[in-house]
Amino acid sequence: MESHLLDKTIKFVTETVGEDHVLESEPMREHTTFQIGGEVPVFCKPQNKEQILKLIKYFNENSIDYYVMGNGSNLLVSDAGFDGVIVQLLDDYSDTEIVEDGQGFKVSAQAGARMWRLGMKIAEAGACGFEFATGIPGTIGGAVMMNAGAYGGEIKDVVDSVTVCDRQGNEIILEKDELEFGYRTSAVSKKDYIVLEVVLRLEKGDKTGIRERIDELTEKRNNKQPLDVPSAGSTFKRPEGYYAAKLIDDAGLRGLKVGGAMVSEKHAGFVVNTGNATAEDVIALTDKIKEKVFEYNGVKLELEVRKLGF
Ligand SMILES: Cc1cc2nc3c(=O)[nH]c(=O)nc-3n(C[C@H](O)[C@H](O)[C@H](O)COP(=O)(O)OP(=O)(O)OC[C@H]3O[C@@H](n4cnc5c(N)ncnc54)[C@H](O)[C@@H]3O)c2cc1C
Repeated sequence: MESHLLDKTIKFVTETVGEDHVLESEPMREHTTFQIGGEVPVFCKPQNKEQILKLIKYFNENSIDYYVMGNGSNLLVSDAGFDGVIVQLLDDYSDTEIVEDGQGFKVSAQAGARMWRLGMKIAEAGACGFEFATGIPGTIGGAVMMNAGAYGGEIKDVVDSVTVCDRQGNEIILEKDELEFGYRTSAVSKKDYIVLEVVLRLEKGDKTGIRERIDELTEKRNNKQPLDVPSAGSTFKRPEGYYAAKLIDDAGLRGLKVGGAMVSEKHAGFVVNTGNATAEDVIALTDKIKEKVFEYNGVKLELEVRKLGF
């Protein structure tokens, strides 16, 4: 891909995060659970808050396009890629700490901590309340930004405070009541903040009971969701009063295909990549689904998956 990014920017990013943490001309299909997406000129993996703030300030001052991501579990990247810098907050920025105090447990996590690993550590410590979230793919940063939820719980139920930075690189601490959580939204998405660190509050629980609950929810997920094929989870938001999967199923769209993109036979709420899907296939299929569902029962579906590079 021909990039407009200057060598100066690539040099700055490399000096800031270290050569081992920069990838050039990187295909995004390697970094999204959909396994779709063209190249980005620079993909970097900062390892601490200072590096992140330094990058954001530089990008802001020099009007450089960039995008912050976690595990890419809710991301559709265009076939042409994205002409900017990807800042990935994942394993290189994922320290966690669990402290028991008089009120239960305080769990601190850097944004890149993976939900499953964090959930296992929390279960081992005997803290309860996070079981619902443990099987949600991705990072705690992505989960806070999306107010991810499953099985009757939402991240907002367990968050105490979040350290973010704004797009000028200023650090801000947001308490729970400032986080404006709603269905798959938060102050982080509304104000375009970047999640740096998250503090959760959890209660003491019975370790065996916690593990059993996680196992039970994992089994439910395995039985219902097409976890053996690439996807980005539920493709559409849940319209108020309905379930997207049921609407899609009722409209007779289970198994519908455009190119390599298909409405999952196992769970109609998932668009899956059958092997060679392009982002264009996914867009054409989701447009068709929206149109057919609207024709069939007048409900407007909205994408839950975030788009980049379109
Ligand atoms: C098989 C499967 C099952 C799923 N099941 C569920 C489910 O049960 N419930 C649910 O809610 N979701 C589910 N999802 C969707 C996905 O797991 C969540 O949206 C998750 O929170 C995304 O986290 P991520 O780290 O992968 O974010 P990414 O996909 O990398 O990014 C998603 C969005 O968050 C932003 N973002 C990521 N990290 C940060 C950060 N540190 N600061 C600011 N913004 C950030 C990105 O810019 C982007 O807009 C599922 C996905 C898959 C593939």
